[in-house]
Amino acid sequence: MIEATNLTSVDVLSQSVPGHVYGPGSDVYEAETKAMWSQAAWLRPSAVFVPSSPQQLAEAVPMMARNNIRFSIRSGGHMPVPGHASVDGDGVLIGTTRLTGLQLMPLPNDFGVPYLAAGAAHTWKDIYEYLAPHDLIVVGGRVLGVGSSLLLGGGISFLSGKHGFAANNVVNFQMLLASGEIVNANQKSHPDLFWALKGGSNNFGIVLRYDIKVYPEEKVWGGAVAWGSEQTQAALDAQTEFMSRKTGPNDPIAAIMSNMEIDASGTLTTGAMLVSSGNDTSSMELFKKIPAVFSTLSHQRFLTLVSPTSVYSARDKRYASWPWACEILTSFQNTISKYFIEDQ
Ligand SMILES: Cc1cc2nc3c(=O)[nH]c(=O)nc-3n(C[C@H](O)[C@H](O)[C@H](O)COP(=O)(O)OP(=O)(O)OC[C@H]3O[C@@H](n4cnc5c(N)ncnc54)[C@H](O)[C@@H]3O)c2cc1C
Repeated sequence: MIEATNLTSVDVLSQSVPGHVYGPGSDVYEAETKAMWSQAAWLRPSAVFVPSSPQQLAEAVPMMARNNIRFSIRSGGHMPVPGHASVDGDGVLIGTTRLTGLQLMPLPNDFGVPYLAAGAAHTWKDIYEYLAPHDLIVVGGRVLGVGSSLLLGGGISFLSGKHGFAANNVVNFQMLLASGEIVNANQKSHPDLFWALKGGSNNFGIVLRYDIKVYPEEKVWGGAVAWGSEQTQAALDAQTEFMSRKTGPNDPIAAIMSNMEIDASGTLTTGAMLVSSGNDTSSMELFKKIPAVFSTLSHQRFLTLVSPTSVYSARDKRYASWPWACEILTSFQNTISKYFIEDQ
C-alpha cells in the first residue's frame, strides 16, 4: 500500500500511473467530465484517470480499492443519472476513452460464430461505421451516440425482434475484477459473471472489451418521420395499432421508436424511427399513409437509416430519463392524447 498519510487520493493515484491522471483546468479533465450526455451529470471529481491500456487500469484499480479512493467509470456517457457514471468531490472519474480497438474475428474462433471484438470506449456509431464496409451488423443501440455499456443493461435494439436483447448477442466480456485480475466471462469461463453482466451494469467489474456476434446486414426500409400537430391523434392511433397487434405481417424486423416534442413556441411534433424488412414493408403501411412534415423513409443501408438519431446525442442540455414499460391499451393512449393534445 502507498503511504497515504499526507497525500490526497489524487496524489496516490498519480504516483501509481504517472501521466494519466488529470486535474481540474486541464483540457483532458474538462473534456472527460463533460463527455456525459446530460449536463446534469457534469460533476467535478478531484481528478480524471484515462488509462491507455487494460494493464494500466489493472494496476490502478486494486490500489484505489486498497486506499478507499472513490471512483466512477464512464464509457459512452449516456447514463443521465448524476453519480452513476460520474463522481463529485473527492473521487476519480475513470474514462475509457483510450480503451479503443475494433477487430473482426472470423471463423474459426473459440466461440464458434464470427464476432466483433470492441473496446469499451466505442459508441454504436463507431461500431456500425466499422462494420458497414463488411456488410455486417451487430444487435446494438438504436441511437448512434450511445456507448457500449448499453450491453450491460440488456440492450434494446432495432434488431431485437429477430435476435433478442443486445446483451444476448455478446459471446464474451473481457473484464477487470477489483482484485486486478483480467478475466474472460463467457459460457465456459466464469459463466456466472457472463450471466450477471447481461443486466448487471457496473456492479461486477470494469468491462474492457465486448465480443459481439455479427450478422450479415439485411436489406431494411425505414428512417425518421415527423408529423405535425394536426396529425398527432392519427400518429398515436397508428402506434397503438402497431404495438397491440396480436397477428399481422410476419416481419421480425419491424420496430418503431416513437417520440413527442414540444418546442419553445408550444408546437407539438410527433415523430418516430421506423424499421422494417426491405423486402416487405407492409408492417409500416399504417404509418406511411399519415401525411408527414419530415421523412427520410426509404430503402437504405442500416447505418444511413439510423443516422438521424445523432441529434439525440448533443451534449447541450440537462436531461432526465425515466424508462418504463407498459401494455399499449386504448385507455393509456387516451391519457397521452389528453396530456399532449387536449391540454395544449
Ligand atoms: C439518448 C439515449 C438513447 C438511448 N437508447 C437506447 C436504446 O436504444 N436501447 C437501450 O437499450 N438503451 C438505450 N439507452 C440507455 C443506454 O443504453 C444506457 O444509458 C447505457 O448505460 C448507456 O451506455 P454508455 O456507455 O453511453 O453510458 P455511460 O454513461 O458511460 O455508462 C452507463 C453505466 O455503465 C457503467 N459503465 C460504463 N462503462 C463501463 C465499463 N467499461 N464497465 C463497467 N461498467 C461501465 C457506468 O458506470 C454507468 O453506470 C439510451 C439512452 C439515451 C440517453
